[in-house]
Amino acid sequence: MLSPERAERLRPLLDAFRDGRDEAARVLADPVEFPHRFSDPRDVEVVALLSAALAYGRVDLFKPKIAGLLDGLGSRPAHAVASLTVPHARALLHGFVYRFNVPADLAVLLLGMGRTLQEDGSLEAAFVNALEHTGSWRGAIAGFIGRVRGLAPEKDIVRALGKTRGVHHLLPGADSGAAKRLNLYLRWMVRGPDVVDFGVWKRLSPAQLMIPVDTHIARMGWWLGLTSRRTISWAMVQEITDSLRRLDPRDPVKYDFALCHYGMSGACPIEPVRAVCLACPLKSSCRRGVKL
Ligand code: SF4
Repeated sequence: MLSPERAERLRPLLDAFRDGRDEAARVLADPVEFPHRFSDPRDVEVVALLSAALAYGRVDLFKPKIAGLLDGLGSRPAHAVASLTVPHARALLHGFVYRFNVPADLAVLLLGMGRTLQEDGSLEAAFVNALEHTGSWRGAIAGFIGRVRGLAPEKDIVRALGKTRGVHHLLPGADSGAAKRLNLYLRWMVRGPDVVDFGVWKRLSPAQLMIPVDTHIARMGWWLGLTSRRTISWAMVQEITDSLRRLDPRDPVKYDFALCHYGMSGACPIEPVRAVCLACPLKSSCRRGVKL
């Protein structure tokens, strides 16, 4: 974990780095683009969970899939999922396929969200209930996913749409690694509002968030000394978040979007390139950069 002394040196560097990034432009290269099409908190939380769940693989492949589903849900997606029936889901999802996921998987998600809205009033309420019940962020993720999946009428779905194939990949609990897409969803809902995140879940604090760790955050986290680990896991999520809490305990994941998109854009390549590192604004605090 980052030492207090290194945190003091890294904070102004990361603040300037984040201020210098054009986050509004990068939103268009991110699945967070989709919930930004809506303003009602219930629509935002529903569209955001659908977008985060499908945000795996190549962005140019999954974004058209999300866009197609949103076309089918119309201008009031929360109302659409809350009133969705199994036959309607069958019609809506006919022909859908994206990598590990088939129509029955998406029906579990859509009908599960709809039933959760009916039972709990909001997805936020379902997550807060899970947090109060389990007492841990990781447990709350598992409880929240269990609630959404458990309320879906899976037997009826399988009867009408065929077998599920990748529900666990679509909606993984925190038992399967770093829970990256769920922590991303939670960042969207709880931080902000700003140009990226929404801040529509008012019963939770940004201080509670855990960083969504993907390959880019794992790599940059290691270069910047935020973690001593090289393998993505919940332990790495915990360690990087603990390091970031030394930078800002009230909003530890505020650097996530800037760092992740820096890696995604190729500005910090998987294999460091000397000329690239020499031009990097983070080089004075990077394990690689200080050796140049
Ligand atoms: S100095 Fe190089 S390795 Fe370090 S963060 Fe910058 S681009 Fe990445």
